[in-house]
Amino acid sequence: MNSHNQRSKILKRQTKILATLGPSTTSIEEIENIFLAGANAFRLNFSHGTYEDHQARYDAIRELEKKHNIPICVIADMQGPKLRVGIFANGKEKLKVGQKFTLDLKKEPGDNTRVQLPHPEIIEVMEVGTNLLVDDGNIRLNVIEKKKKALVTEVIVGGKISDRKGVNVPDVIIPLKSLTEKDEKDLEYAIEMGADWLAISFVQTKKDVEYAQKRVKGRVPIISKIEKPSALVHLDDIIEASDGIMLARGDLGVEIPAENVPVVQKKVIAKARKAGKPVIVATQMLESMIEKPVPTRAETTDVATAVYDGTDAVMLSAETASGKFPVEAVTMMKKITKRVERDSSYMSEKREHSLTPDHSRSDAIAYAAYQTTVGLNSSVITTFTMSGFTTLRIARERPPVPIISITTNSKVARRLMLVYGVHSFHFDVVDSFKEMEEEALKIVKKYEYAQEGENMVITASYPTEETGETNMMHIIKI
Ligand code: PGA
Ligand code: MN
Repeated sequence: MNSHNQRSKILKRQTKILATLGPSTTSIEEIENIFLAGANAFRLNFSHGTYEDHQARYDAIRELEKKHNIPICVIADMQGPKLRVGIFANGKEKLKVGQKFTLDLKKEPGDNTRVQLPHPEIIEVMEVGTNLLVDDGNIRLNVIEKKKKALVTEVIVGGKISDRKGVNVPDVIIPLKSLTEKDEKDLEYAIEMGADWLAISFVQTKKDVEYAQKRVKGRVPIISKIEKPSALVHLDDIIEASDGIMLARGDLGVEIPAENVPVVQKKVIAKARKAGKPVIVATQMLESMIEKPVPTRAETTDVATAVYDGTDAVMLSAETASGKFPVEAVTMMKKITKRVERDSSYMSEKREHSLTPDHSRSDAIAYAAYQTTVGLNSSVITTFTMSGFTTLRIARERPPVPIISITTNSKVARRLMLVYGVHSFHFDVVDSFKEMEEEALKIVKKYEYAQEGENMVITASYPTEETGETNMMHIIKI
């Protein structure tokens, strides 16, 4: 298949698919297979692997981008202050309900009575009555006595505990920055490498985001992962300080009651969308496909729900990183998103929630472009953008048609591939509006976005200046 058709095939979908890369997706062939199956963006997870691993995958992605002539988005995800217990003399232990179990600072391997929790700051803030959840909440410990350098707990939910299992402490604000020393090194590497977005983990307040923004200094936009109860309390401020949002349901679902996750999901998506910031729904979406070639019906419904909720992107984690069926998982996700997008109630729901524009020119035009597109029943919107801002404002309206986003900045083109409905095109400088029009028509015809005789809306900033704010909208007949 030639690259024109390939591009049309890959892009005829509004909701984006973000696939995490890992041991199952290492070679360029493996990455190409999930790209061709429908992945628009890739996550490099800095919780695992070496810089060499990330670099090799990054280079492979850029090679595919050239080969297929499509901008591809890369997200570098920082590990953040993930808490872990130490190791056990026997590698593992079984904890019984009602027994005592101590967490302390001693390095010696643990046994059935104690293990190391190598985070003095956490021991410091825990109080009698607060909970520690080990291994994604499979084990629950309740603090019954606080010592200077140890927490004595009672086992509330027992089970197998083993080396370096993760620990969540939902009842307290952890006195740790969301960027650890490791993250500070990793983020420099990721930016140097050329990552298009930087995701930060365990954000608790907007201070975490502001601190990260200071380190990053505008070199890359920041996605805040919502996975702490505190982040829900400070959600509005966090969204405002961030460039994008990820609903990280894995850790979030351990830190808050599981039944609250779907409610929170709707709220987070609605707020991020209203702010015009891309939002990703992540974790366990097609979990059973790690082992099996078909998902459960509950999982297909979960992906569909995220699309109905109006998310920009849905994410695969272990399904593509370490699972046995990465291509099948992406294919399944693509089928579900496309199916929902064809449902008439999907679009009417989106329209009912249509938003009021703010008072900027860009937004007035984005809103008008959306209304005109719907009114004229046209099949595509084209936007010329410098910073990507107008494209984001148009995407915020969730138009039912592709948003052709044309930019001279290849970084902006890549970044926007994460966003609802956006089909990025990178392209050299245009001098006149006539040239813009010609370029838009060329793209629309070449990739068959619209039929002859149909109307197309074009938005642009003209005359073109460096920070030109969008100031015009034009309707042309194809
Ligand atoms: P993680 O984040 O995979 O980096 O932990 C996602 C989540 O917690 O859901
Ligand atoms: Mn997480």
